Amino acid sequence: MNLAQFARRRYTPGATAIEPMPHLTKALGGAELFIKRDDQLGLTGGGNKTRKLEFLVADALAQGADTLITVGAVQSNHCRLTLAAAVREGLKCRLVLEQRVPDSYDPSASGNNFLFDLLGVEAVTVVNLGADLQGAMEQVAADLAAEGRKGYIIPGGGSNALGALGYVACAEEILAQSFASGVAFDRIVVASGSAGTHAGIVAGLVGNSANIPVTGINVRRPRAEQEGNVHKLALAVADLAGVVPAIAPETIECRDEWVGPGYSLPTPEMIEAVRMFASLEGVLLDPVYTGKAAAGLIALVRSGEIAREERVLFVHTGGSPALYAYQPVLAGAAAA
Ligand SMILES: *Cc1c(COP(=O)(O)O)cnc(C)c1O
Repeated sequence: MNLAQFARRRYTPGATAIEPMPHLTKALGGAELFIKRDDQLGLTGGGNKTRKLEFLVADALAQGADTLITVGAVQSNHCRLTLAAAVREGLKCRLVLEQRVPDSYDPSASGNNFLFDLLGVEAVTVVNLGADLQGAMEQVAADLAAEGRKGYIIPGGGSNALGALGYVACAEEILAQSFASGVAFDRIVVASGSAGTHAGIVAGLVGNSANIPVTGINVRRPRAEQEGNVHKLALAVADLAGVVPAIAPETIECRDEWVGPGYSLPTPEMIEAVRMFASLEGVLLDPVYTGKAAAGLIALVRSGEIAREERVLFVHTGGSPALYAYQPVLAGAAAA
C-alpha cells in the first residue's frame, strides 16, 4: 500500500493519541483497555468523518466543485464535519437530512443541529426515512448547476471507497503507534454504521498482514446485512488502496446486540456506558454511536467473550456534540 499517491487535504496535525483506560479496566476486572482518540481529530468537534473528508474534499477540489452536498440523520456528525470542511476550504455546503425516526427534525434542536446553523449551512432539505437520498442530493446538484455552480456529492457517512481510505490510513497509524509503544493489541473494537470506518480499518490491517481481529458493534442494522455492507466496502477500498491479500467474509464481524429499539434510540446499556466513560476516564462518548459501541465492549468484557488477558483498542469515533441534544436522557441517570 502507498497511500501517499492519493490527493489529500490535512485536517489534523499529527496522529491522534492512544491512551490506556486504567480505571475502566479496573472497574471491569480486565481486559486491558485502550482508546484511540479519534474524537480529537481536526475540524469542528472532531470525529471519524474528518479522516474520510481528507480524501473526499481533495477530490471535490480537484473537480472544481464550489459546494459540498451530503446526507445524514438529523443529528449527523458527518453533516457537521462536511460543513466544517467546506468552511475551512471556502466552499458552500448543502445538507439533506433524513428523519430516520419520524418527526425527529427539530430546527431549534441543540447538538449538531445547532452547529449546522452556526457553521453557516447554505440550505437544508428534510426528507423521511425511505426517501431516495441519492436522488435528493442529485436534485440539489441540479439546482446548483442551474445557477452555474458546481456541487460535489459525498455519500452518507463519507462511506465510499475513497472516503474509507481515511481508515486504511488510521489502521497504519495504529500499527505504527503500537510498534513505537510496544503495546501489541489483540483486538480492535469500533462502531459500525455506514461501514467506511470498519471496512477501512479491516482493509488496512489485512494490507499490513497485521492479523488483529476487529469487532464491529452495529448502531442500526442487523448483523448479516451489516456484515455484507462492510465486506463489500472493504473489498472496494482494498482494491483502491492496492491491498493484495483477499479479504475473506469471515474477517468481518458485526455484533447487533446493542442496537436496542433502533438507530439513535437510547438504551440503558448506552446510558451506562456513556456515564462510565465520563466518570471513570473523563472521556465523552455520544448516545448514537460510541455509547452503543462502548456498551458492546463492556458487555463482551463482562461476559468473558473478550478474555481478561486481551489488550483491546476501542476506537473512539467521536460524536460528543450530539450529547447536548440528549441531556434529558443522560443527565442524572444512575450508572448501574
Ligand atoms: C458516523 C459515525 C460512526 C460510524 O462510522 P461509519 O464509518 O459510518 O460506520 C461512528 N461514530 C460516530 C461518532 C459517527 O459519527
